[in-house]
Amino acid sequence: MGGDRVSEQQRWDLESLYPGGSHSPQFRNFLDDLETNATSFSMVLQNTPGAMQSPDMGLKAVILTMQDLSMRLREASAFVSCLTAQDVHDAEAKALQTRVNRIRATLTSALALLDERLQQAGEDSIRALLGDPELAPLAFAIEERIARSRRRLPAEQERLIARLSSDGYIAWGELYDTIVGRMTAEIEMEGRREIVSMGQLANRMTQAAQRDRDRMFDVWESRFAHEADLCAEALNHLAGFRLQVYEARGWHSVLEEPLEINRMSRETLEAMWDAVVRNQERLLPYLNAKARLMGVEKLSFYDVDAPLQSGAKQRAITYEEARQFIAEQFAAFSPDMAAFADACFARRWIEAEDRPGKRPGGFCTSFPVHQVSRIFVTFSGTPGNVATLAHEIGHAYHQHVLRDLPYLATQYAMNVAETASTFAEAIVSDAAIRAASSDGERLELLNEKLQRAVAMMMNIHARFLFETRFYDERKRGYVPAERLNQLMVDAQMEAYRGSLRRYHPHFWASKLHFYITGTPFYNFPYTFGYLFSSGIHAMAAAEGKAFSRRYVDLLRDTGRMRVEDLAQKHMGADLTKPDFWQTAIDFALRDLDAFLQLANQRL
Ligand SMILES: [Zn+2]
Repeated sequence: MGGDRVSEQQRWDLESLYPGGSHSPQFRNFLDDLETNATSFSMVLQNTPGAMQSPDMGLKAVILTMQDLSMRLREASAFVSCLTAQDVHDAEAKALQTRVNRIRATLTSALALLDERLQQAGEDSIRALLGDPELAPLAFAIEERIARSRRRLPAEQERLIARLSSDGYIAWGELYDTIVGRMTAEIEMEGRREIVSMGQLANRMTQAAQRDRDRMFDVWESRFAHEADLCAEALNHLAGFRLQVYEARGWHSVLEEPLEINRMSRETLEAMWDAVVRNQERLLPYLNAKARLMGVEKLSFYDVDAPLQSGAKQRAITYEEARQFIAEQFAAFSPDMAAFADACFARRWIEAEDRPGKRPGGFCTSFPVHQVSRIFVTFSGTPGNVATLAHEIGHAYHQHVLRDLPYLATQYAMNVAETASTFAEAIVSDAAIRAASSDGERLELLNEKLQRAVAMMMNIHARFLFETRFYDERKRGYVPAERLNQLMVDAQMEAYRGSLRRYHPHFWASKLHFYITGTPFYNFPYTFGYLFSSGIHAMAAAEGKAFSRRYVDLLRDTGRMRVEDLAQKHMGADLTKPDFWQTAIDFALRDLDAFLQLANQRL
C-alpha cells in the first residue's frame, strides 16, 4: 500500500492538462483547431496578401496570429513529448508526434512568408508597427526578425535555398545519423564476446576499469576509422553547402550565423575564449592528480570523463530527502525559488519513477497555454539524480518567471537557455559536496565538478578550434579524412595543453554535434552558458538573498535582449572585456585546491 502511494507521488500529473493520455479527446480537439488555423493562416499568406485592409494592419495581424499559433504549437509539442517519454511503446503518441511535425512544417513555411513581407515593408510602416501598443512588448523579436531577413537574399532566392536544403544539406546530416545508427562494435567483456551499438560502447567506456577502457577506445577509434571516408563526405558537403549559402549572402565569416542565433557579438566570443585560454593551465594539476588516483601516468581522452572509482560508497537518497534537500539549498539564495521547487513536487509536475519503458535522460518542457511546466527524470537515489532534478527544476523556474510575458518575448537562445538550470544544479551540487559523509565521497563529487570545467574549457574549446580551422580549409577544397584527423589532434593537443597520453583523432567522426544542420557551431554556446551561469552564481554568493530579485529580472529579459545588454543591465558587466569571464572562471575553479589536497592525502 505504502509503495503504491510512493510511486504515485513520483508520477507526474498530465490528466489536469489533457485527460486521457494519448487518447485524450480534449487534446485531439486542440490539435484539430491548431491544424485548421495553421493551414488557413498559411493559405492567407500565400494567396491573398492584399486581403487585409492596409499593409500595416496586415502585418500586425500576421505577427499576432503567428505568435498565437507558435505558442499553441509549443503546447502541443510539449504534451506529445511527455507522452512519448513516459512510455516509449505508446504507438498512439508517435502518431500524434507525426501530426505535430506536420503542423510545424506548415508554420515554418508561413514564417518564411512573414519574413518576406517584413523585408518588403518600408521604414515608415515598420515604425508604425513598432509604435503599436500591442506590438511594443514584442519589439525586440520583431526588430530581430527584420534585421535577420534584411541580411538575407531576396525572398525568392532564400526560398530556393530552403527547398534545396532538404536534399542538399539536411540530408547530409541525416546520412550521418544513418551511418552511425547502423554501426556496431565487437568487444570482449570478462571473456565473453559481445556485439554492441556505438552508443552502448560509449557508455561502457565511461564505466569500465581503466585498462578495459583503453582497449575499448582502440575498438572505438578503429570502427570510426573504418567509416571515416563516409563521415568525411557528409561533413565536407554539409559544410560546403553552408559556405556557398554564406558566400551568396555576402557573409565573410562562418561565425556570422551562430553568433546571430545566440544574439552575441564576436567581441564577446573572443573575450570569452581569451579568458578560457589564459586559464587552461590551471586545470593541469587536476588532470595530473586524477591520473595518479587512477593509477596511470597520464590520462587518455576517454579517462577524462570517467569516475575515480575511489570505492566510496554512495548512500541511496530517498525522493523525499531529495525534495527537502533541494528546497533547503534553494532557500539560501531565494525563498521564491525554494517555494517553487516545493510546489513542483506537491503539484506533481515531475515524472521521476524508476520503471521500465521510459526514455533515458531528463528534460523540462513548458506548456505556455496552461502556463505550467513538466519535468522528466528517472530517480534512483544517486547524488547525480538529485543534481539532475535540481537542474530541471531550474529550467522550470526560468519558464515560471516568464509565464506572463507575450510568447514572442520569451524565446531565449541556446547560450542562455542553460543559465537557470546550471545555476540551480550548482547550488545543489555544492551543498552535496559540503554534506559529503566521507572524504572519498567528497573527492568523487569534486571530481565530477572539475570534470565539467575540463569539458567546458578544454573539450568544447578543442571542438571550436577544429571547426574554425576545418571551415577555413574547406573554403579551398575538399578536406580528406586524414587531414581531418590531423586538424582534430592538433586542436585537442592545444586545448588540453598537451596533457593527455592519447588523443581522439576520429572525434570529428564520432561526435554528432558537427553534423547538426539546424544549428552550426554547436559548441561555444555550451561554454558561454556554463561561464555565464558561473558569473551569476559568483554574484549570488556575494550578495545572498538580495540577489534573488535581480536574478528574476535577468531571467525575464533572456528572451528579449542581446546577451551584452542582458549582462550590462543586470550585472553591470561588460561581456566584451576579460573581467567578467575571469571572475566566472575563478568561481568555477574555486574547489580546485580542495580537490588537490584530498587527492594528495590519498596518494
Ligand atoms: Zn538543461
